[in-house]
Amino acid sequence: MYSFFLSKAGAIANVTVSEIASFGVGALLLIAASAAHKVDSFVARSQRRSLKLCEECGGVTKLPCLKCKGRGQVTEGFFSALSSEPRESTPCPACKGRGQFPCPSCSKQ
Ligand SMILES: [Zn+2]
Ligand SMILES: [Zn+2]
Repeated sequence: MYSFFLSKAGAIANVTVSEIASFGVGALLLIAASAAHKVDSFVARSQRRSLKLCEECGGVTKLPCLKCKGRGQVTEGFFSALSSEPRESTPCPACKGRGQFPCPSCSKQ
């Protein structure tokens, strides 16, 4: 009876410990992933700087429009997604159909 209680408690402790461990590993991976992302963008920027490229666009001098994702066209309307009519594409109002913006960092110069 006593040993049964002990093994039962041991099993519970094992589960708890491994659960905590897996949670800890998951949290560590999450932290490592977000830190790696930050380091990544930092390295990219310092690389661009050392190559004397624009830190924003890397020397492309243009940045893609986020609204139309660089296509220059947006599919019109929320309700058109629900209707069966063919959807109309219109020039993106944000970038005026160009699909990209001049880099704010480069265009200042
Ligand atoms: Zn656009
Ligand atoms: Zn730029």
